[in-house]
Amino acid sequence: MTNKPTAIVIGAGIGGIATAARLAKNGYDVTVLEKESTPGGRCNQIIRDGHRFDIGPTLFLMPEIWEETFASLGEKMSDHLDLKRIDPTYKVHFDDGLRLELTSNIGDMQTQLEKVEKTAFTGFLNYIAEGSIHYKMSVEKFVGRNFYNIFEYFSLGNLPLLFQLKALQKHFANVGNYFKDERLKAAFTFQNMYLGLSPYDAPATYSLLQYTELAEGVWYPLGGMYAGIQALVKVAEKHGVKFLYGTPVRQIVVGKSKVDSVITEDGRTYTSDIFVGNADLPYIYKELLPNKVEAKKLEDKLYTCSTIMFYWGVDKEYKQIAHHNVFLGGDYKASFNQIFNDHTLPDVPSFYVHAPARTDKAAAPEGQETLYVLVPVGHLDARTEQDWDALIDRARETVFNRLAKEMGATDLREHIKFEIVYQPKVWKERFNLEKGSAFGLSHNFMQVGYLRPQNRHKQYKNLYFAGASTHPGTGLPIVLLSARLTTERILKEKSTIAVQKVNKPALNPA
Ligand SMILES: Cc1cc2nc3c(=O)[nH]c(=O)nc-3n(C[C@H](O)[C@H](O)[C@H](O)COP(=O)(O)OP(=O)(O)OC[C@H]3O[C@@H](n4cnc5c(N)ncnc54)[C@H](O)[C@@H]3O)c2cc1C
Repeated sequence: MTNKPTAIVIGAGIGGIATAARLAKNGYDVTVLEKESTPGGRCNQIIRDGHRFDIGPTLFLMPEIWEETFASLGEKMSDHLDLKRIDPTYKVHFDDGLRLELTSNIGDMQTQLEKVEKTAFTGFLNYIAEGSIHYKMSVEKFVGRNFYNIFEYFSLGNLPLLFQLKALQKHFANVGNYFKDERLKAAFTFQNMYLGLSPYDAPATYSLLQYTELAEGVWYPLGGMYAGIQALVKVAEKHGVKFLYGTPVRQIVVGKSKVDSVITEDGRTYTSDIFVGNADLPYIYKELLPNKVEAKKLEDKLYTCSTIMFYWGVDKEYKQIAHHNVFLGGDYKASFNQIFNDHTLPDVPSFYVHAPARTDKAAAPEGQETLYVLVPVGHLDARTEQDWDALIDRARETVFNRLAKEMGATDLREHIKFEIVYQPKVWKERFNLEKGSAFGLSHNFMQVGYLRPQNRHKQYKNLYFAGASTHPGTGLPIVLLSARLTTERILKEKSTIAVQKVNKPALNPA
């Protein structure tokens, strides 16, 4: 028995770890129940035969948000992570042969852009300037704060911001104000796919992504993205957080207005003062909570895309493959339609290749290659016929053909020692992501800010959420913000919850 207030966190994804650490730093006795044998969730890793793969995230963005997380826990990020800047950030390949190297080197950008379109460099500078305003304003006024009621969100003060942030304009339409060449429009909008969004649906606000990449930088921690998870777990444990791995939660037991306990697969019951759901929010409503009406409403919301992933251990080095490579192809608009409306693989799929050994030698055995390929596809859809085996084969062929034709990797096929494939069913079944949507709930206008599922349950006042499908949204740094906002809310509402708690045992694994 402890006198400290107690917290149970369901899930050790980055959102769960960071919330647990912040709560422990603020005096809570915290236990994290994680279904897998290791932490990290989508930011986990696979290690096989000396090859180290990041499972999901490969772009370490917005380092200042990471720094703030470490600082709030009394630590310096640089004592935990050795970050290397990746510049050029990507090599972008178009199927007509055009190559662009997106870089923070302004002179290089000017030379490349002006070769494509005379006025493109001016357009680029203006676009990045707009992205900078969007980024700063969004973090300060929208994604970096809680909205406790609709009036705070749609306040007179906030309404002009919706226009300044171009929240009601579509990103692809807006980029047309800066570039005329269709390839340039694609090169400065495909980043929406990190949020699992189509640039034809995403608000123009998301030009902030291009700004953060080029101005704040794309980074990579030595040891892989998982180094970030390991560092946060270490700090959380230092503050006393207990992690119980291999402990899936089966049910959340509720009273009228509060959660009483959670029951794990092995039949144990854990009681606590507060509970934080880090497993994806729609899954928690659907599978762990009793109210299926709320779950159905969530199911009907818009979801991000899914992905087919190839993790290849290769016994040969291909130095021509950069750290980050993007291959765009076919009819840009049609391909997004096929992903987001038809929920399938586009006829001409675009894809991304990650070769971490370019920056971090330890990612592959000497003279070999660790390749991660991400092919965006539609999420699971029971109403559509989806033959995943056939789609995976077609995706693989596309990747082989383009890497052979455009990068000279003609013998790649023969040098693959092993292949691990993830597809939408894996995202759903192993990661508990609704519809296998790799990035969770979408971020269209109706699903952001106060309109996104909030970080506290409406009815159960001691049930909070932290993670990609609650406010503010997906992406590692944004989920770190979610952890901060959820903790702030818990601390703000602590007295209300403490009053309700009378003589309650702290943590009680029965
Ligand atoms: C392919 C891919 C590429 C990406 N690329 C990038 C990128 O480059 N940069 C970037 O910033 N972001 C990227 N993202 C997004 C980023 O990975 C996510 O936004 C972030 O990791 C989500 O963290 P989370 O804590 O919300 O959820 P998760 O990582 O999903 O963690 C939830 C945790 O809950 C656990 N859990 C689930 N159910 C239960 C249960 N019943 N009981 C106990 N535990 C449970 C899970 O095992 C998991 O550990 C990418 C995502 C994917 C999928």
